[in-house]
Amino acid sequence: MKLLIKNGKILLQKNDDFTISTGNIIIEDRRISKILPSSDQPQETDFDKVIDASSSLVMPGLINAHTHAYMSIFKNYADDLEFFDWLHSVEVVEDEITAEDCYWTSLLAIIEMIKTGTTCFVDIHIRSSIKGKKTGPEAAASGAVRESGIRAILSRGLVGEASDKEAWRRINEFMADAKLNNDCDRLRFALGPHAPYSCPESLLKEIKKIGQENGLMATIHISESEAEMETIASNNNGITPVKFVADSGLFDLPTIAAHLVKATDDDIKILKENNVSVALNPRSNMKLGNGFAPAKKFQDAGLNICLGTDGNGSNNTQNMFQEMQFASLVYKGAEKKAKCIDAEDVLKFATTNGAKALNMEDQLGVIKEGALADIIILDLNTPEFVPENNLIGALCYSANGSEVKTVIVNGDILMEDKKLLTIDEQKVYQECEKIAKRLNMTNKN
Ligand SMILES: [Zn+2]
Repeated sequence: MKLLIKNGKILLQKNDDFTISTGNIIIEDRRISKILPSSDQPQETDFDKVIDASSSLVMPGLINAHTHAYMSIFKNYADDLEFFDWLHSVEVVEDEITAEDCYWTSLLAIIEMIKTGTTCFVDIHIRSSIKGKKTGPEAAASGAVRESGIRAILSRGLVGEASDKEAWRRINEFMADAKLNNDCDRLRFALGPHAPYSCPESLLKEIKKIGQENGLMATIHISESEAEMETIASNNNGITPVKFVADSGLFDLPTIAAHLVKATDDDIKILKENNVSVALNPRSNMKLGNGFAPAKKFQDAGLNICLGTDGNGSNNTQNMFQEMQFASLVYKGAEKKAKCIDAEDVLKFATTNGAKALNMEDQLGVIKEGALADIIILDLNTPEFVPENNLIGALCYSANGSEVKTVIVNGDILMEDKKLLTIDEQKVYQECEKIAKRLNMTNKN
């Protein structure tokens, strides 16, 4: 489809800084083929579709660098619990969740992502698609991604000893899922060792080997809570979780490490030496009472910082606008410095830095000629954007995601004027209510 987005205020990047200029964007064959100034109006009859973006901001879709889409049914299920109590109460239900459940619950998360401007997410899930299924409920998370049109990097949560049959069952299912879906260019796969406390060194070493043999990146939770620091230290001669993972060699794979709330100065050096990208999850960290990651130190050390919502069990929303706002406010508050982590910083975390973490710099998270057409259009005729004193500041401090009206991924329109075009919203809500009832999750108050 040849698409024209006309007369929008376009969020561009020049020498690492954001700029806004009014113009027209031409999309052909999944990519942005041309960006024209408003003085250059193309012939509209040359296009299959024209979107009038007057009074609108056209910007790159947001990249959620760490989440668990299947957990959408856990929102408001295990609130106000300490970390390991929370983890235990979630794990009991997770054991009962089927691949078919994961299809519907992933779609529920994807609906919220699309409606609030996320076009790409990095996921750690617990069920792979059932043998040979690419679409429909049996295709689990990968089916939800294929059918919804969103872009995703899917990983399967891996735990246990390398000698454990169950660990290998998960790895083999994951690899089969990755092979099955290598025809979908919006869908990539990554290895997802869960955390240092659930993955012994033997498993991390095997995962590294599989990653190297198959050209896969890794994503892992590290140093999320004080309890994790104590557990790893007491079982491993006092070392930190970051050192534990580094010693296993996992960081030889391109890696996104989520949380790092308790990272030490030495940990930050290790992360930098190994070129590890860091996914901040401020809302999840606060909700579980884990504290705040040393984001300013990450920034000063030159780490690639991206941003994730984490799953709905610990955040309760997949809204990246809320995450951007919290990221800026929390770290200013924690550092007692108003200049710490500004609006431009968090916008980069959610766009270009996310793309860098995926080794898709210049392809995602940016509006430029040749980049993939993952674009969101926001209504500027809303109280959050009036007056237009500073649109970058407004995106971070005023917007709430409800201003997103149109979403394009890979050149395809997934939502137009707030109407979802690829997902039967009501059907997903009905199925997720049924799942929550079957798992005895409802009516907790
Ligand atoms: Zn997580």
